[in-house]
Amino acid sequence: MATAPALPELDFEQMSAEKLIRWAYVEYGERLCLTCSWQKQSSILVHMISELGLPIRVVELDTQLFFKESYETRDALVGRYGLELIRPHVLTVAEQHKREGPNLWESDPDRCCQLRKVEPLIEALRPYDAWISGIRREQSPSRAQTPKVEWSERYGVWKIHPLVDWDEKRVNAYIEVNEIPYNPLHDTGYRSIGCIPCTRPTSPGEEERAGRWAGSDKLECGIHLDTPLVQNPAAEQKETP
Ligand code: SF4
Repeated sequence: MATAPALPELDFEQMSAEKLIRWAYVEYGERLCLTCSWQKQSSILVHMISELGLPIRVVELDTQLFFKESYETRDALVGRYGLELIRPHVLTVAEQHKREGPNLWESDPDRCCQLRKVEPLIEALRPYDAWISGIRREQSPSRAQTPKVEWSERYGVWKIHPLVDWDEKRVNAYIEVNEIPYNPLHDTGYRSIGCIPCTRPTSPGEEERAGRWAGSDKLECGIHLDTPLVQNPAAEQKETP
């Protein structure tokens, strides 16, 4: 298992999103990447990195089960910001049906997320030392204690969370003020957006991520957990930098 390299003693909590991203780029350069799944946080981070003029690579976490609006948002951002996406290999839905049985998201969603999200991300992060993600503390109780910078033993990278202390109001305001393309499903009750079979709109008063895996006790796909929902020895094969 990869152990955490030394980190400078800095007060990351006090850093703005822009300052944190700039620090991470100075520290990790080409070994820093951003992952996107085309929710509002992706739009903000793509715009912010463009404004900072930093050539940070963008990894698309596409399960091939996204809404058409998510793909249209991706295409709009690619067009506007000239992104060259890195796309990890994901087995096709047909291959998954053949190998694991039909509609795995119904029979074993943890396994489905492992195959379509976690394992592709493990492969995608192998060349990197640090990973920028758009998760925010207020999205769910499972994210409430997330620091701005944390070590992931699972992936062997530093996780950088520039928007972790942003609330939904600030997210919306930043997008509006900067006129950034964003996923239109957010305007129709989808406050958190993932795969079609596992996402529904939320009702007023529900938590932001209540529409994900609704009706089950599953809160996370697993990519942001260091304790795997499904064991995978590939996570321990990453070479330490
Ligand atoms: S969110 Fe649902 S469909 Fe998407 S990978 Fe996870 S279980 Fe499968």
